[in-house]
Amino acid sequence: MATTAEQPRERFTNFTPYEMKKGEEYMSAEMLGHFKNLLLQWKQELMEEVDRTMHHMQEDAANYADPSDRATQEEEFSLELRTRDRERKLIKKIDQTIDRIDKDDYGFCDQCGVEVGIRRLEARPTATLCIDCKTLAEIRERQTGI
Ligand SMILES: [Zn+2]
Repeated sequence: MATTAEQPRERFTNFTPYEMKKGEEYMSAEMLGHFKNLLLQWKQELMEEVDRTMHHMQEDAANYADPSDRATQEEEFSLELRTRDRERKLIKKIDQTIDRIDKDDYGFCDQCGVEVGIRRLEARPTATLCIDCKTLAEIRERQTGI
């Protein structure tokens, strides 16, 4: 029985893109609500995935007696543990982002203060940098290897 651990969803796609009304201010209360909803749904989905992974591991643990099966199983488990770890980190990041929405500190670049943009935030709701600063940060990361 071969199982592959599911990758956590780095993106949440199950939502209706926000339609800005004429004259609507960026990060209006309604817009913030849209993103909060989106993040809450994403978190819910991730938590269900964590649950599934855990159940799967508990069920499987009982089914192997043969040592060679156990070796394979251990590999699968460590893969699933890594996936779970990533899911947990993502959930933590989502919580931090929801916290920022509640404090009305969402949607602007942490580095330069410009609007991150609705479409970019919908693609990556936990983004804290605008695309320019993000690109720069990635280039620096590659150069310094940090
Ligand atoms: Zn920026």
